[in-house]
Amino acid sequence: MSERRRVAILGSTGSIGRSSVEVIQASGDCLEAVALVARADVAQLAEQAWALRPKWVVIVDPEVAAGLCDIKFPPEVEILFGASAVNKIVQSSEVDVVLSAIVGRAGLEGTWAALEAGKTVALANKETLVVAGHLVKDLARKTGATIFPVDSEHSGVFQAIRCEGKEHIRRVILTASGGPFRTYRLEELASVTVEQALAHPTWRMGKKITIDSATLMNKALEIIEARWLFDLRPEQIEVLIHPQSVVHALVEFIDGSVIAQLSQPDMRLPIQLALLWPKRREGMIRRLDWSEIRKLEFELPDLERFSAVRLGIRVAEMGGTAGAVLNGANEAAVDAFLSGRLKFDQIVPLCESILDRHPFEAYPSLERVLELDHWARQEVFHWVGN
Ligand code: NDP
Repeated sequence: MSERRRVAILGSTGSIGRSSVEVIQASGDCLEAVALVARADVAQLAEQAWALRPKWVVIVDPEVAAGLCDIKFPPEVEILFGASAVNKIVQSSEVDVVLSAIVGRAGLEGTWAALEAGKTVALANKETLVVAGHLVKDLARKTGATIFPVDSEHSGVFQAIRCEGKEHIRRVILTASGGPFRTYRLEELASVTVEQALAHPTWRMGKKITIDSATLMNKALEIIEARWLFDLRPEQIEVLIHPQSVVHALVEFIDGSVIAQLSQPDMRLPIQLALLWPKRREGMIRRLDWSEIRKLEFELPDLERFSAVRLGIRVAEMGGTAGAVLNGANEAAVDAFLSGRLKFDQIVPLCESILDRHPFEAYPSLERVLELDHWARQEVFHWVGN
């Protein structure tokens, strides 16, 4: 890898993408954006292109091309269209690190192409590992590609287990803020509105992950992600509710020692770490001020009100096709909730019932995983009535 790391940001216009742009701009000479990828937000993409002067921008939605004449990009930037262009640029010899921050299963393809080319991947798109964890890990092993976690909890685990043998780890605890409905009663969850669900108490994120954080499905996806990233047994992964979002993860070793990772809830830290590892440099984030921190609270999740956590453990144990089905159903169910076609408290039970009905396979191919992803989405459409 060259001294100055050349980064392709997949999903540059999203919440993680925008934070990544800030990290690169503040990195001095350490990082350079050579490619920016978005689906359709061309105005923001152009702004980013003027600021970063990448070699390529990719607009994945081809229908956007028609409206481009009003928007000016720097003349030297090459504009490419469609998902196949993403695969081409991530495999280019001019890219060192691929920051995978497209939301949902749509992020799998570009990540897969990067791993095929043996690249270093800074992985925010947890859905890649949820949908196809076994295949992704096999691919990375074969090509020598490296995956660094961007998810704050997984970045915390990653930092806590440096230099430790796997046999020394007893359990890994991922923390969860508990979302906006942490103290709601089960009956109250039925009348939750989209606006309430989008008001996360500690993190500012894209809509899909914000809803996942409110149902705690995000934690379910993170359990599955951790299982693959760190090659853990599912029973080694636990969740603790921690409303302050200062402790991101704890790792307990066999001798009883526990190492925790703490920092402000700001995604720019794990992004910077994943892009620069093993280097650390002066961060952009506020340091923890111990005179402000009055208490750090921890409580076990209520699995009756937030059954997604139980579902995450179950899917991590099942492996095979279970992750793809859970994720496909959840993406479609979140869309249905955001468009007013499904109630908040129906999201997780609907995903569970689709998971229960799917034709499970323990060692599916990528094609089979994608078929079942599609099937799970169709099941949600049938259920919600369109
Ligand atoms: P956002 O919704 O804010 O952004 C999504 C990005 O993906 C946008 O750039 C969007 O482009 C692009 N995109 C959406 N669909 C497609 C598609 N079909 N093809 C190509 N590009 C597409 O999401 P977040 O940044 O919140 O999350 C991104 C990923 O990071 C998710 O997997 C999430 O779980 C993970 N993550 C996010 C965290 C956060 O703090 N936000 C924390 C930890 C993990 P456009 O703008 O043009 O639509």
